[in-house]
Amino acid sequence: MAERATQATRPPAGAAVIDSDIVVIGGGMVGSTLASALGGAGFEVCVIDREDPAAVLEAGFDGRVSAIAWGSQRVLAALDLWPGMAADAEPILDIRVSDGDSLMFLHFDHADIGDRPFAYIVENRVTRRALNRRLTASASVRLIAPMTVVSLEREGGGVEAMLADGTKVRAALAIAADGRHSRVRRDAGIATTEWSYPQTGIVCTVAHERPHHGVAQERFLAAGPFAILPMTRDAAVGHRSSIVWTERAGLVPALFALDDGEFTAQLAVRFGDHLGAVEVVGPRFSYPLALMHAERYIGHRLALIGDAAHAIHPIAGQGLNLGLRDVAALAEVLVDARRLGLDIGHGSVLERYQRWRRFDNVVLAAATDGLNRLFSNDVLPIRIARDLGLAAVNRIAPAKRFFMRHAMGVLGELPRLVRGEPL
Ligand SMILES: Cc1cc2nc3c(=O)[nH]c(=O)nc-3n(C[C@H](O)[C@H](O)[C@H](O)COP(=O)(O)OP(=O)(O)OC[C@H]3O[C@@H](n4cnc5c(N)ncnc54)[C@H](O)[C@@H]3O)c2cc1C
Repeated sequence: MAERATQATRPPAGAAVIDSDIVVIGGGMVGSTLASALGGAGFEVCVIDREDPAAVLEAGFDGRVSAIAWGSQRVLAALDLWPGMAADAEPILDIRVSDGDSLMFLHFDHADIGDRPFAYIVENRVTRRALNRRLTASASVRLIAPMTVVSLEREGGGVEAMLADGTKVRAALAIAADGRHSRVRRDAGIATTEWSYPQTGIVCTVAHERPHHGVAQERFLAAGPFAILPMTRDAAVGHRSSIVWTERAGLVPALFALDDGEFTAQLAVRFGDHLGAVEVVGPRFSYPLALMHAERYIGHRLALIGDAAHAIHPIAGQGLNLGLRDVAALAEVLVDARRLGLDIGHGSVLERYQRWRRFDNVVLAAATDGLNRLFSNDVLPIRIARDLGLAAVNRIAPAKRFFMRHAMGVLGELPRLVRGEPL
């Protein structure tokens, strides 16, 4: 059931200027998490988003779930956001990867590396609801939405964001969290490396007869990966999973023109019968897929986070997780700078954030791109080679453990929030 958002804060009537420490442009899941972290650490934060906070919680706005890796769950727990999400989070206990109809498959069992789940499947609207409640309840965060930032000036000792209604927001630092097509990034002259995939992600929810037992499945089909992600049981629908069906972009209009019965039949061919009869419930969504990486994550009094800095193929369900690791690193850098009495917008402070996050993001962007190219084709020698590779990884315990720790988001130099510690 869609829930009404608490009222977003609007600038007081007649006030043309708002002063804050930090202005966050874009209140999607990444920008809102950063605002929540910084507000909790005592910064005065202003978040501006062009969407209506009530509309983004409705079932038709964003039908996706996110696989929230173990490391990201710790960030959300450290920020005390997780209690508002936990009841709607399904743990992933097993991951099964198969190559088309080949028998070769890779099986990751969480019990091989401890008793923690790899990740939790959470509907994006559940995450947005928890964030929205936090931001509207916070005394140090002001959420202005729906409102568009039309320009950003960054000269001298501060920044000034101009809003569509003429309000100016002044701060020491601007954060661009305005997504893959970030206008702030473009206006700052930050170049990108990017390309579109000839694929579209079809997303929908299915009900199935039998329980999924916390198993996430990824099937590599010729058009791209077909993922079955275990969701919490729903009183009305019963056992549920979320589907991310990567398909050739040109075929998607015809698939969307099918009626529910025909669409379900097409989906069932790819889904298989291991969970019994399957039925599509609710709307279908489509997302054009692309890779984008910004050449710099920082500029004068500016830092880019989340999809504004990097957007990757959803093959490994890691885009939001990278964004949450950006949040953890940037929040730590800014809190440390303030403790040392430094200017939070100074280049040397922002440089530390960029150095910390670039490598992880570049590695994941390259890995997801490579996996998609390797698996999204039906060329026989490539199929044989990759099936042998899957079988080899499946047998080599250290290789398996490496992939599992990667999926959990706990490799590399971990920020305090990812370690579950306060800022
Ligand atoms: C099919 C699919 C499945 C995915 N599955 C997963 C998964 O399982 N796990 C995972 O980790 N990731 C996943 N991802 C990736 C994840 O969804 C994104 O990485 C994440 O949503 C990015 O969040 P963001 O806040 O950075 O950007 P966005 O969600 O794009 O938010 C940007 C915000 O900025 C606002 N905005 C833009 N311009 C302005 C402006 N001028 N003024 C004011 N506001 C503005 C917008 O309204 C928006 O709210 C998936 C992606 C796709 C496409």
